[in-house]
Amino acid sequence: MSEILEKRKKQIRRKGAGPYEMTCEKHSLAGAVSQRACVFCGSRVVLYPIADALHLIHGPVGCAAYTWDIRGALSSGPQLHRRSFTTDLREQDVIHGGEKKLYQCLKELIAYYRPKAVFVYSTCIVGVIGDDVEAVCRQVSRETGLTVISVASEGFKGTKKDGYRAACRALSELVGTGDISSISPFSLNILGDFNIAGETWAIREYYRRMGIEVVSTITGDGRVEDIRRAHGARLNVVQCSGSMVHLAREMKEKYGIPYIHVSYFGLQDMSKALYDVAEFFQDAAAMQKARRLVREEIDRVLPELMRIRTDVQGKKAGIYTGGAFKAFSLVASLRMLGIRTAFVGSQTGSPDDYKRLEEFCDPGTIIVDDANTMELVRFSQETEIDLLIGGVKERPVAYKLGIGFCDHNHERKISLAGFEGMLHFAQEVHASVMSPVWKLIDRKNINVGNA
Ligand code: SF4
Repeated sequence: MSEILEKRKKQIRRKGAGPYEMTCEKHSLAGAVSQRACVFCGSRVVLYPIADALHLIHGPVGCAAYTWDIRGALSSGPQLHRRSFTTDLREQDVIHGGEKKLYQCLKELIAYYRPKAVFVYSTCIVGVIGDDVEAVCRQVSRETGLTVISVASEGFKGTKKDGYRAACRALSELVGTGDISSISPFSLNILGDFNIAGETWAIREYYRRMGIEVVSTITGDGRVEDIRRAHGARLNVVQCSGSMVHLAREMKEKYGIPYIHVSYFGLQDMSKALYDVAEFFQDAAAMQKARRLVREEIDRVLPELMRIRTDVQGKKAGIYTGGAFKAFSLVASLRMLGIRTAFVGSQTGSPDDYKRLEEFCDPGTIIVDDANTMELVRFSQETEIDLLIGGVKERPVAYKLGIGFCDHNHERKISLAGFEGMLHFAQEVHASVMSPVWKLIDRKNINVGNA
Protein backbone atom coordinates (compact mmCIF):
# COMPACT_ATOMS: atom_id res chain seq x y z
CA MET A 1 0.00 0.00 0.00
CA SER A 2 1.43 3.42 -0.97
CA GLU A 3 2.38 5.93 1.73
CA ILE A 4 0.74 9.36 2.10
CA LEU A 5 3.25 12.11 1.23
CA GLU A 6 4.42 13.93 4.36
CA LYS A 7 3.32 17.37 3.07
CA ARG A 8 -0.16 16.04 2.25
CA LYS A 9 -0.91 14.69 5.70
CA LYS A 10 -2.63 17.83 7.03
CA GLN A 11 -5.13 17.71 4.15
CA ILE A 12 -6.36 14.29 5.19
CA ARG A 13 -8.35 13.50 8.30
CA ARG A 14 -10.15 10.56 9.85
CA LYS A 15 -13.24 11.57 11.80
CA GLY A 16 -12.76 10.97 15.49
CA ALA A 17 -8.93 10.80 15.33
CA GLY A 18 -8.10 13.62 17.74
CA PRO A 19 -9.33 17.23 17.75
CA TYR A 20 -10.49 18.61 14.40
CA GLU A 21 -7.68 20.08 12.35
CA MET A 22 -7.47 20.21 8.58
CA THR A 23 -5.67 22.29 5.94
CA CYS A 24 -7.18 23.19 2.56
CA GLU A 25 -7.37 25.93 -0.11
CA LYS A 26 -3.67 25.69 -0.91
CA HIS A 27 -1.75 25.07 -4.12
CA SER A 28 -1.48 21.43 -5.10
CA LEU A 29 1.75 19.81 -3.95
CA ALA A 30 4.28 19.49 -6.77
CA GLY A 31 4.84 15.84 -7.62
CA ALA A 32 1.68 14.67 -5.89
CA VAL A 33 -0.17 14.46 -9.26
CA SER A 34 -3.35 16.11 -8.03
CA GLN A 35 -6.75 15.19 -9.49
CA ARG A 36 -7.50 18.93 -9.48
CA ALA A 37 -7.92 20.98 -12.68
CA CYS A 38 -6.15 24.30 -13.44
CA VAL A 39 -7.39 27.91 -13.09
CA PHE A 40 -8.30 28.11 -16.78
CA CYS A 41 -10.33 24.91 -16.56
CA GLY A 42 -12.17 26.33 -13.52
CA SER A 43 -13.24 29.38 -15.53
CA ARG A 44 -14.09 27.36 -18.59
CA VAL A 45 -16.44 24.95 -16.79
CA VAL A 46 -18.34 27.84 -15.21
CA LEU A 47 -18.80 29.94 -18.36
CA TYR A 48 -19.08 27.11 -20.88
CA PRO A 49 -22.91 26.65 -20.70
CA ILE A 50 -23.62 30.23 -21.90
CA ALA A 51 -24.87 29.00 -25.21
CA ASP A 52 -25.10 32.16 -27.34
CA ALA A 53 -21.65 33.47 -26.39
CA LEU A 54 -18.46 32.81 -28.27
CA HIS A 55 -15.75 31.25 -26.11
CA LEU A 56 -12.22 31.82 -27.43
CA ILE A 57 -9.24 30.21 -25.75
CA HIS A 58 -6.11 32.31 -26.13
CA GLY A 59 -3.43 29.66 -25.92
CA PRO A 60 -2.14 26.40 -27.37
CA VAL A 61 -4.56 24.01 -28.98
CA GLY A 62 -3.99 21.53 -26.13
CA CYS A 63 -5.72 23.80 -23.59
CA ALA A 64 -8.71 24.01 -25.93
CA ALA A 65 -8.78 20.26 -26.53
CA TYR A 66 -8.56 19.61 -22.78
CA THR A 67 -11.74 21.60 -22.18
CA TRP A 68 -13.62 20.96 -25.42
CA ASP A 69 -17.31 20.16 -24.78
CA ILE A 70 -16.29 19.80 -21.15
CA ARG A 71 -19.75 19.63 -19.64
CA GLY A 72 -22.88 17.71 -20.54
CA ALA A 73 -24.54 21.14 -20.33
CA LEU A 74 -27.54 21.23 -22.67
CA SER A 75 -28.92 24.24 -24.48
CA SER A 76 -32.56 24.71 -25.46
CA GLY A 77 -31.43 26.90 -28.39
CA PRO A 78 -28.02 27.94 -29.74
CA GLN A 79 -25.13 25.49 -29.64
CA LEU A 80 -22.26 27.95 -30.10
CA HIS A 81 -20.83 27.07 -26.67
CA ARG A 82 -20.02 23.55 -27.84
CA ARG A 83 -17.46 24.80 -30.37
CA SER A 84 -13.88 24.99 -29.18
CA PHE A 85 -12.18 28.07 -30.63
CA THR A 86 -8.53 28.75 -29.95
CA THR A 87 -5.84 31.15 -31.14
CA ASP A 88 -3.56 28.09 -31.38
CA LEU A 89 -0.46 29.85 -30.03
CA ARG A 90 2.80 28.37 -31.26
CA GLU A 91 6.53 28.95 -30.85
CA GLN A 92 6.63 32.08 -33.09
CA ASP A 93 3.73 33.63 -31.15
CA VAL A 94 5.51 32.95 -27.88
CA ILE A 95 8.57 34.80 -29.21
CA HIS A 96 6.78 37.71 -30.91
CA GLY A 97 3.58 37.90 -28.83
CA GLY A 98 0.05 36.68 -29.57
CA GLU A 99 -1.95 39.93 -29.50
CA LYS A 100 -2.19 40.35 -33.29
CA LYS A 101 -3.33 36.78 -33.68
CA LEU A 102 -5.94 37.26 -30.96
CA TYR A 103 -7.22 40.43 -32.64
CA GLN A 104 -7.51 38.71 -36.03
CA CYS A 105 -9.23 35.64 -34.55
CA LEU A 106 -11.76 37.80 -32.73
CA LYS A 107 -12.60 39.88 -35.79
CA GLU A 108 -12.98 36.80 -37.97
CA LEU A 109 -15.05 34.79 -35.49
CA ILE A 110 -17.36 37.67 -34.59
CA ALA A 111 -18.05 38.43 -38.25
CA TYR A 112 -18.81 34.79 -38.99
CA TYR A 113 -20.78 33.68 -35.89
CA ARG A 114 -22.33 36.97 -34.73
CA PRO A 115 -22.43 35.95 -31.05
CA LYS A 116 -24.21 37.88 -28.28
CA ALA A 117 -20.95 38.34 -26.35
CA VAL A 118 -17.41 36.95 -26.32
CA PHE A 119 -15.30 35.46 -23.54
CA VAL A 120 -11.53 35.33 -24.11
CA TYR A 121 -9.72 32.95 -21.77
CA SER A 122 -6.04 33.44 -20.94
CA THR A 123 -4.01 30.26 -20.52
CA CYS A 124 -0.61 29.63 -18.88
CA ILE A 125 1.53 30.74 -21.80
CA VAL A 126 -0.36 34.05 -22.13
CA GLY A 127 0.57 34.79 -18.53
CA VAL A 128 4.20 33.97 -19.30
CA ILE A 129 4.55 36.10 -22.46
CA GLY A 130 2.42 38.92 -21.03
CA ASP A 131 -0.05 39.60 -23.86
CA ASP A 132 -2.36 42.52 -23.01
CA VAL A 133 -5.59 40.58 -23.54
CA GLU A 134 -7.73 43.26 -21.91
CA ALA A 135 -6.51 45.90 -24.35
CA VAL A 136 -7.25 43.70 -27.37
CA CYS A 137 -10.73 42.91 -26.00
CA ARG A 138 -11.42 46.62 -25.46
CA GLN A 139 -10.29 47.46 -28.98
CA VAL A 140 -12.44 44.74 -30.60
CA SER A 141 -15.36 45.76 -28.40
CA ARG A 142 -15.04 49.35 -29.65
CA GLU A 143 -14.79 48.30 -33.27
CA THR A 144 -17.63 45.75 -33.26
CA GLY A 145 -19.98 47.18 -30.61
CA LEU A 146 -20.03 43.75 -28.96
CA THR A 147 -19.17 42.95 -25.32
CA VAL A 148 -15.80 41.19 -25.43
CA ILE A 149 -14.71 40.07 -21.98
CA SER A 150 -11.22 39.05 -20.95
CA VAL A 151 -11.20 36.14 -18.49
CA ALA A 152 -7.95 36.31 -16.49
CA SER A 153 -7.53 32.56 -16.06
CA GLU A 154 -3.84 31.80 -16.62
CA GLY A 155 -3.62 28.14 -15.61
CA PHE A 156 -0.78 28.38 -13.09
CA LYS A 157 -2.16 31.40 -11.24
CA GLY A 158 -3.70 29.51 -8.32
CA THR A 159 -6.19 26.70 -7.90
CA LYS A 160 -9.32 25.75 -9.81
CA LYS A 161 -11.20 27.94 -7.35
CA ASP A 162 -9.34 31.02 -8.63
CA GLY A 163 -10.74 30.10 -12.02
CA TYR A 164 -14.26 30.26 -10.57
CA ARG A 165 -13.46 33.71 -9.26
CA ALA A 166 -12.19 34.87 -12.67
CA ALA A 167 -15.40 33.54 -14.27
CA CYS A 168 -17.54 35.45 -11.76
CA ARG A 169 -15.59 38.65 -12.47
CA ALA A 170 -16.31 38.14 -16.18
CA LEU A 171 -20.01 37.54 -15.52
CA SER A 172 -20.31 40.65 -13.42
CA GLU A 173 -19.39 42.68 -16.51
CA LEU A 174 -22.65 41.51 -18.08
CA VAL A 175 -24.94 41.73 -15.04
CA GLY A 176 -26.57 45.13 -14.68
CA THR A 177 -26.61 46.03 -18.37
CA GLY A 178 -30.14 44.88 -19.34
CA ASP A 179 -33.69 46.19 -18.99
CA ILE A 180 -35.40 44.97 -15.79
CA SER A 181 -38.69 46.85 -16.00
CA SER A 182 -40.94 43.80 -16.55
CA ILE A 183 -39.55 41.51 -13.83
CA SER A 184 -41.96 40.08 -11.21
CA PRO A 185 -41.44 40.77 -7.50
CA PHE A 186 -41.46 36.95 -7.08
CA SER A 187 -38.33 36.32 -9.07
CA LEU A 188 -34.94 34.71 -8.70
CA ASN A 189 -31.74 33.75 -10.49
CA ILE A 190 -30.50 30.16 -10.45
CA LEU A 191 -26.75 30.34 -9.80
CA GLY A 192 -24.39 27.38 -9.91
CA ASP A 193 -26.49 24.86 -11.79
CA PHE A 194 -25.06 23.96 -15.19
CA ASN A 195 -27.94 22.14 -16.88
CA ILE A 196 -26.10 18.85 -17.00
CA ALA A 197 -28.45 16.49 -18.85
CA GLY A 198 -31.21 19.10 -18.53
CA GLU A 199 -31.13 19.56 -14.73
CA THR A 200 -31.70 23.33 -14.84
CA TRP A 201 -34.88 22.75 -16.85
CA ALA A 202 -36.26 20.50 -14.10
CA ILE A 203 -35.42 23.03 -11.38
CA ARG A 204 -36.84 25.88 -13.44
CA GLU A 205 -40.07 23.92 -13.81
CA TYR A 206 -40.31 23.44 -10.01
CA TYR A 207 -40.04 27.21 -9.50
CA ARG A 208 -42.60 27.80 -12.23
CA ARG A 209 -45.00 25.46 -10.42
CA MET A 210 -44.47 27.58 -7.29
CA GLY A 211 -45.36 30.75 -9.22
CA ILE A 212 -41.84 32.17 -9.19
CA GLU A 213 -40.17 33.77 -12.22
CA VAL A 214 -36.67 32.64 -13.11
CA VAL A 215 -34.89 35.69 -14.55
CA SER A 216 -31.62 34.01 -15.48
CA THR A 217 -29.90 30.69 -15.13
CA ILE A 218 -26.20 31.23 -14.49
CA THR A 219 -24.90 29.46 -16.28
CA GLY A 220 -26.89 26.32 -17.23
CA ASP A 221 -28.68 26.91 -20.58
CA GLY A 222 -27.48 30.50 -20.07
CA ARG A 223 -28.18 33.42 -22.38
CA VAL A 224 -26.30 36.69 -22.49
CA GLU A 225 -29.45 38.85 -22.49
CA ASP A 226 -30.86 37.05 -19.41
CA ILE A 227 -27.60 37.50 -17.50
CA ARG A 228 -27.66 41.21 -18.34
CA ARG A 229 -31.07 41.39 -16.56
CA ALA A 230 -30.06 39.26 -13.56
CA HIS A 231 -29.84 42.32 -11.26
CA GLY A 232 -33.64 42.68 -11.55
CA ALA A 233 -34.32 39.43 -9.63
CA ARG A 234 -35.25 39.59 -5.93
CA LEU A 235 -33.18 36.60 -4.86
CA ASN A 236 -30.09 34.67 -5.90
CA VAL A 237 -30.33 30.95 -5.23
CA VAL A 238 -26.80 29.60 -5.19
CA GLN A 239 -25.85 25.99 -5.72
CA CYS A 240 -22.20 24.96 -5.96
CA SER A 241 -21.02 27.60 -3.51
CA GLY A 242 -17.42 27.36 -4.77
CA SER A 243 -18.14 28.50 -8.28
CA MET A 244 -20.83 31.14 -7.84
CA VAL A 245 -20.65 32.62 -4.39
CA HIS A 246 -18.33 35.41 -5.58
CA LEU A 247 -20.95 36.62 -8.05
CA ALA A 248 -23.73 36.31 -5.45
CA ARG A 249 -21.68 38.36 -2.97
CA GLU A 250 -20.93 41.01 -5.54
CA MET A 251 -24.60 41.27 -6.56
CA LYS A 252 -25.55 41.65 -2.92
CA GLU A 253 -23.10 44.48 -2.47
CA LYS A 254 -23.84 46.22 -5.75
CA TYR A 255 -27.59 45.68 -6.17
CA GLY A 256 -28.71 44.62 -2.69
CA ILE A 257 -29.90 41.19 -3.86
CA PRO A 258 -29.75 38.65 -1.03
CA TYR A 259 -28.68 35.07 -1.68
CA ILE A 260 -29.30 31.66 -0.16
CA HIS A 261 -27.34 28.43 -0.55
CA VAL A 262 -29.13 25.31 -1.74
CA SER A 263 -28.42 21.89 -3.16
CA TYR A 264 -30.71 20.20 -5.67
CA PHE A 265 -29.32 16.71 -5.04
CA GLY A 266 -31.23 14.23 -2.90
CA LEU A 267 -34.86 14.32 -1.75
CA GLN A 268 -34.13 16.12 1.48
CA ASP A 269 -31.95 18.88 0.03
CA MET A 270 -34.18 19.37 -3.00
CA SER A 271 -37.26 19.81 -0.78
CA LYS A 272 -35.39 22.16 1.51
CA ALA A 273 -34.31 24.30 -1.47
CA LEU A 274 -37.94 24.84 -2.50
CA TYR A 275 -39.12 25.52 1.05
CA ASP A 276 -36.29 27.99 1.64
CA VAL A 277 -37.24 29.92 -1.49
CA ALA A 278 -40.95 29.98 -0.52
CA GLU A 279 -39.99 31.12 2.95
CA PHE A 280 -37.82 33.91 1.57
CA PHE A 281 -40.77 35.40 -0.33
CA GLN A 282 -43.00 34.97 2.75
CA ASP A 283 -45.76 33.96 0.41
CA ALA A 284 -48.33 31.47 1.72
CA ALA A 285 -49.42 30.46 -1.78
CA ALA A 286 -45.84 29.71 -2.87
CA MET A 287 -45.29 27.65 0.29
CA GLN A 288 -48.48 25.70 -0.26
CA LYS A 289 -47.49 24.99 -3.86
CA ALA A 290 -44.01 23.92 -2.72
CA ARG A 291 -45.51 21.50 -0.18
CA ARG A 292 -47.83 19.99 -2.76
CA LEU A 293 -45.01 19.70 -5.30
CA VAL A 294 -42.71 17.97 -2.80
CA ARG A 295 -45.46 15.55 -1.74
CA GLU A 296 -46.37 14.64 -5.32
CA GLU A 297 -42.77 14.19 -6.43
CA ILE A 298 -41.71 12.13 -3.41
CA ASP A 299 -44.78 9.89 -3.72
CA ARG A 300 -43.79 9.26 -7.30
CA VAL A 301 -40.17 8.17 -6.67
CA LEU A 302 -40.16 6.71 -3.15
CA PRO A 303 -41.49 3.17 -3.85
CA GLU A 304 -38.73 2.51 -6.41
CA LEU A 305 -36.08 4.03 -4.11
CA MET A 306 -37.13 1.67 -1.33
CA ARG A 307 -37.00 -1.31 -3.68
CA ILE A 308 -33.45 -0.34 -4.69
CA ARG A 309 -32.50 0.10 -1.04
CA THR A 310 -33.31 -3.54 -0.24
CA ASP A 311 -30.61 -4.60 -2.74
CA VAL A 312 -27.83 -2.12 -1.96
CA GLN A 313 -28.09 -1.49 1.78
CA GLY A 314 -24.97 -2.42 3.72
CA LYS A 315 -22.61 -1.48 0.86
CA LYS A 316 -19.81 1.07 1.29
CA ALA A 317 -18.91 4.03 -0.92
CA GLY A 318 -16.14 6.57 -1.50
CA ILE A 319 -16.90 10.06 -2.81
CA TYR A 320 -14.58 12.46 -4.60
CA THR A 321 -16.17 15.59 -6.07
CA GLY A 322 -15.09 18.92 -7.58
CA GLY A 323 -16.97 21.21 -5.19
CA ALA A 324 -17.72 20.10 -1.63
CA PHE A 325 -21.44 21.08 -1.68
CA LYS A 326 -22.23 17.95 -3.69
CA ALA A 327 -20.48 15.77 -1.14
CA PHE A 328 -23.03 16.63 1.61
CA SER A 329 -25.98 15.73 -0.59
CA LEU A 330 -24.26 12.55 -1.73
CA VAL A 331 -23.54 11.37 1.81
CA ALA A 332 -27.22 11.99 2.67
CA SER A 333 -28.52 10.32 -0.51
CA LEU A 334 -26.35 7.25 0.04
CA ARG A 335 -27.53 7.09 3.64
CA MET A 336 -31.08 7.01 2.37
CA LEU A 337 -30.18 3.96 0.30
CA GLY A 338 -28.51 2.30 3.30
CA ILE A 339 -24.97 2.85 1.93
CA ARG A 340 -22.24 4.07 4.27
CA THR A 341 -19.67 6.64 3.10
CA ALA A 342 -16.19 5.38 3.99
CA PHE A 343 -14.26 8.31 2.56
CA VAL A 344 -15.21 11.66 1.08
CA GLY A 345 -13.19 14.43 -0.51
CA SER A 346 -13.24 17.34 -2.91
CA GLN A 347 -10.94 19.38 -5.14
CA THR A 348 -11.99 22.80 -3.86
CA GLY A 349 -13.57 22.50 -0.39
CA SER A 350 -13.28 25.38 2.08
CA PRO A 351 -12.45 25.14 5.82
CA ASP A 352 -16.20 25.45 6.58
CA ASP A 353 -17.05 22.66 4.13
CA TYR A 354 -14.65 20.19 5.73
CA LYS A 355 -15.70 21.12 9.25
CA ARG A 356 -19.31 20.50 8.26
CA LEU A 357 -18.40 17.21 6.61
CA GLU A 358 -16.67 16.10 9.80
CA GLU A 359 -19.88 16.79 11.74
CA PHE A 360 -22.09 15.17 9.10
CA CYS A 361 -20.19 11.92 8.44
CA ASP A 362 -20.03 8.73 10.50
CA PRO A 363 -17.09 8.20 12.89
CA GLY A 364 -14.04 6.79 11.09
CA THR A 365 -14.88 8.42 7.74
CA ILE A 366 -11.77 9.66 5.92
CA ILE A 367 -12.04 13.28 4.73
CA VAL A 368 -9.58 14.44 2.09
CA ASP A 369 -8.80 17.71 0.33
CA ASP A 370 -7.21 17.83 -3.17
CA ALA A 371 -6.55 14.08 -3.39
CA ASN A 372 -4.26 12.39 -5.87
CA THR A 373 -4.79 9.09 -7.64
CA MET A 374 -2.65 7.00 -5.31
CA GLU A 375 -4.51 8.30 -2.27
CA LEU A 376 -7.83 7.40 -3.84
CA VAL A 377 -6.48 3.92 -4.59
CA ARG A 378 -5.25 3.55 -1.04
CA PHE A 379 -8.50 4.71 0.58
CA SER A 380 -10.61 2.59 -1.77
CA GLN A 381 -8.66 -0.56 -0.94
CA GLU A 382 -8.22 0.14 2.75
CA THR A 383 -11.93 0.81 3.34
CA GLU A 384 -13.05 -1.96 0.93
CA ILE A 385 -15.66 0.18 -0.78
CA ASP A 386 -18.14 -1.25 -3.30
CA LEU A 387 -18.70 2.03 -5.13
CA LEU A 388 -16.70 5.13 -6.03
CA ILE A 389 -18.54 8.33 -6.93
CA GLY A 390 -16.50 10.86 -8.89
CA GLY A 391 -15.79 12.19 -12.35
CA VAL A 392 -13.92 11.29 -15.48
CA LYS A 393 -10.54 11.15 -13.71
CA GLU A 394 -11.79 8.86 -10.94
CA ARG A 395 -13.58 6.39 -13.22
CA PRO A 396 -10.42 4.45 -14.23
CA VAL A 397 -9.37 4.24 -10.58
CA ALA A 398 -12.63 2.45 -9.75
CA TYR A 399 -12.59 0.11 -12.71
CA LYS A 400 -8.93 -0.85 -12.25
CA LEU A 401 -9.74 -1.78 -8.66
CA GLY A 402 -12.82 -3.78 -9.68
CA ILE A 403 -15.20 -1.37 -7.92
CA GLY A 404 -18.56 0.01 -9.07
CA PHE A 405 -18.56 3.63 -10.29
CA CYS A 406 -21.13 6.41 -10.49
CA ASP A 407 -20.33 9.57 -12.48
CA HIS A 408 -21.48 12.64 -10.57
CA ASN A 409 -19.34 15.15 -12.41
CA HIS A 410 -20.04 17.58 -15.21
CA GLU A 411 -19.33 15.12 -18.05
CA ARG A 412 -22.27 12.85 -17.22
CA LYS A 413 -25.27 12.41 -19.47
CA ILE A 414 -27.84 11.50 -16.79
CA SER A 415 -29.64 14.14 -14.74
CA LEU A 416 -29.16 13.58 -11.02
CA ALA A 417 -30.73 16.77 -9.64
CA GLY A 418 -34.28 17.11 -8.43
CA PHE A 419 -36.67 14.35 -7.32
CA GLU A 420 -36.46 12.47 -10.59
CA GLY A 421 -32.67 12.89 -10.46
CA MET A 422 -32.50 11.09 -7.11
CA LEU A 423 -34.24 8.15 -8.73
CA HIS A 424 -31.74 8.20 -11.61
CA PHE A 425 -28.90 8.33 -9.07
CA ALA A 426 -30.26 5.31 -7.16
CA GLN A 427 -30.75 3.37 -10.41
CA GLU A 428 -27.21 4.21 -11.49
CA VAL A 429 -25.78 3.14 -8.12
CA HIS A 430 -27.80 -0.06 -8.21
CA ALA A 431 -26.77 -0.96 -11.77
CA SER A 432 -23.10 -0.45 -10.96
CA VAL A 433 -22.89 -1.96 -7.49
CA MET A 434 -25.04 -5.00 -8.30
CA SER A 435 -23.37 -5.77 -11.62
CA PRO A 436 -22.45 -9.48 -11.81
CA VAL A 437 -19.08 -8.53 -13.34
CA TRP A 438 -17.61 -7.78 -9.90
CA LYS A 439 -17.97 -11.46 -8.95
CA LEU A 440 -15.31 -12.28 -11.55
CA ILE A 441 -12.74 -9.97 -9.92
CA ASP A 442 -10.64 -10.71 -6.85
CA ARG A 443 -10.46 -7.16 -5.42
CA LYS A 444 -8.14 -8.13 -2.58
CA ASN A 445 -5.38 -9.19 -4.95
CA ILE A 446 -5.33 -6.17 -7.24
CA ASN A 447 -2.11 -4.27 -6.55
CA VAL A 448 -2.62 -0.97 -8.41
CA GLY A 449 -1.76 0.78 -5.13
CA ASN A 450 1.78 -0.58 -5.22
CA ALA A 451 2.49 0.43 -8.79
S1 SF4 B 1 -3.95 26.69 -18.97
FE1 SF4 B 1 -1.97 25.80 -18.38
S2 SF4 B 1 -2.44 24.17 -16.88
FE2 SF4 B 1 -4.38 24.75 -17.91
S3 SF4 B 1 -4.59 23.29 -19.62
FE3 SF4 B 1 -3.52 25.08 -20.45
S4 SF4 B 1 -1.32 24.66 -20.18
FE4 SF4 B 1 -2.44 23.18 -18.90
